[in-house]
Amino acid sequence: MTRKAVFPGSFDPITLGHTDIINRALPLFDELIIAIGININKKYMFDIELRTKMIEEVYKNNPKVKVISYTGLTVDLCHKKNFPYILRGLRNPADFEFEKAIAQTNRKLGNVETVFLLTGPETSYISSSIVRDIYKNGGDISGLVPKEILKFL
Ligand code: ADP
Repeated sequence: MTRKAVFPGSFDPITLGHTDIINRALPLFDELIIAIGININKKYMFDIELRTKMIEEVYKNNPKVKVISYTGLTVDLCHKKNFPYILRGLRNPADFEFEKAIAQTNRKLGNVETVFLLTGPETSYISSSIVRDIYKNGGDISGLVPKEILKFL
């Protein structure tokens, strides 16, 4: 059986926190879809094309990784693509509380299991929103994002 997982998120932009989770999940799965969720009520800093391009650049040499964008429910995407697992990262107790409800709902709604990886100590403080704040204010984000995306920024 091939083990396939969807890693959903905003990735606005992808950070070293995301890549830590993705890189540690890759040995566990045969295929990983990085799925950029589009929520029309949310304002993004980087448009969907650029966010997709940045992630593709990071994983261009890894045939296990695909990048897509989607609207609607993550469980519907999992069913459509026939991917039985969702991958999520956990940084802190707030993430846990929030993710717990979503994971339990996704299991009830769509029989999709969520696999959690704990954040690594070196990247636990990194979030896309911190990166956006630093970037907006002209600070140096090079230690917080994969080096492959710097050329797009
Ligand atoms: P969302 O809006 O769905 O939370 P994000 O792009 O912020 O989208 O996050 C996508 C996933 O990556 C989430 O599971 C989140 O917990 C995880 N993640 C983000 N930053 C980190 C980090 N520094 N360490 C571990 N996981 C992280």
